[in-house]
Amino acid sequence: MLAIILGPPGSGKGTQAAKLAEKKGLVHLSTGDILRNAVKNETELGLKAKSYMDAGDLVPDDLILGIIKERIESNNNVLFDGFPRTVPQAEGLDLMLAETGSGINVVLDLDVSDQEVINRLSGRYFCSSCQATYNYPNKLPKREGVCDKCGIALSKRKDDTEEVVKNRLNVYKELTQPLQDYYKKQGLLKTVNGEGNIEAVFNDLVSILDSIKTG
Ligand code: AMP
Repeated sequence: MLAIILGPPGSGKGTQAAKLAEKKGLVHLSTGDILRNAVKNETELGLKAKSYMDAGDLVPDDLILGIIKERIESNNNVLFDGFPRTVPQAEGLDLMLAETGSGINVVLDLDVSDQEVINRLSGRYFCSSCQATYNYPNKLPKREGVCDKCGIALSKRKDDTEEVVKNRLNVYKELTQPLQDYYKKQGLLKTVNGEGNIEAVFNDLVSILDSIKTG
């Protein structure tokens, strides 16, 4: 199965993608996580991506398509999270998949209002080791300020400040939202209300994946 999860920043894509991938045996491919790791390790990719990410802008399409190509060549059981982010990225993905004779099975679209996005991102923290995310007050760690899995202090993402969040929302509307039409035309888009609690949204997404026929 090849699935995509779409939604504005803070819509819960990362949280839901990790849970769905585990439940359905899919590889969770988050371009945001890959880029944050590259920045942390100061790799060539990280050095190129850092300034775009800090400003809340998108990293150039050719860099992103390079990351994806490397990773999907050996795998056709993937849940893409945070990719594609632009129509040219979606076209690039379609071309790569056409070469391997496969295609996208479903695009899950999380619908969350701007105000809810701003509220969620201002309370978001993450673990720089395992990338798990937490949210005050909705998804608290067991011990305040500490990752449940790794036991290390939680961090705030550099791009979760109010000014950068506003830019990320604008970028989402201008460059990413057109993907809704792109995938609607292909009959792949399934929109889900992303404002319920984590388990309710998860159950809706699982039912959609369960109903998809592959192969
Ligand atoms: P995310 O964790 O998905 O919110 O991504 C964090 C940041 O990484 C974004 O604001 C972009 O700067 C960059 N990024 C992640 N995925 C992509 C992508 N597919 N295309 C361009 N930039 C991306």
